[in-house]
Amino acid sequence: MAGNGIRLSSPVTARPKRACMPLARSKRWVSIYERDSHPPLVKVFVTQSAYSRIVLHSLSELDDEIGGALVGLWCIDRNSGEQFVVVQHMLPARYTRQGSVYLTFTQDTILDFHEEIEKNHSGKRIVGWYHTHPRMGIFLSHYDTFLHNNFFPEPWQVALVVEPHSSLGGFFIRRPGGTLDPTRYFGFYELNGNLGRSMVDWRNLHDDENEGGSK
Ligand SMILES: [Zn+2]
Repeated sequence: MAGNGIRLSSPVTARPKRACMPLARSKRWVSIYERDSHPPLVKVFVTQSAYSRIVLHSLSELDDEIGGALVGLWCIDRNSGEQFVVVQHMLPARYTRQGSVYLTFTQDTILDFHEEIEKNHSGKRIVGWYHTHPRMGIFLSHYDTFLHNNFFPEPWQVALVVEPHSSLGGFFIRRPGGTLDPTRYFGFYELNGNLGRSMVDWRNLHDDENEGGSK
């Protein structure tokens, strides 16, 4: 009913967008854990502009943890049926509580993300979240895992952790059965990173074509 002040949220389709996985336009960055772990449910593609904004935001606060939403598309490949997400934008989180070893999202944080998406990124989804671990490693704490399952429960939603001091980063992605290993992170596909210049400088990931190289 119109006019009663209640606005129904736009129906979110529970299905991924059918698309072609942009492997040929991407550069793959892998972590040391990918050789012996089972493939995750989704592959993660990140545009260069989203990557650089995440890095810039991560460097803006070197003591306390900060974070935000990863915004983009949830897709299924037309041919293989494999799922993937494309991170196209990031939204720094507001209404958070944070300290040097924790970051908490609140309901207001999530509402703010949805309002921003409706206003500026119509048709896009929250495909996950990122946060920093200043002077710590790349892992999900018990609390991070709680936040992930509570606010980002879709199997295809991912968590990115960035260490801004030593330039490290990694994605935590659920397995096909829904399990999440909080210690083993994955790399990602840098969209258009195979054309011209790569922007990725996370030292713990290496170029797939140069495995074991000097990166
Ligand atoms: Zn954390």
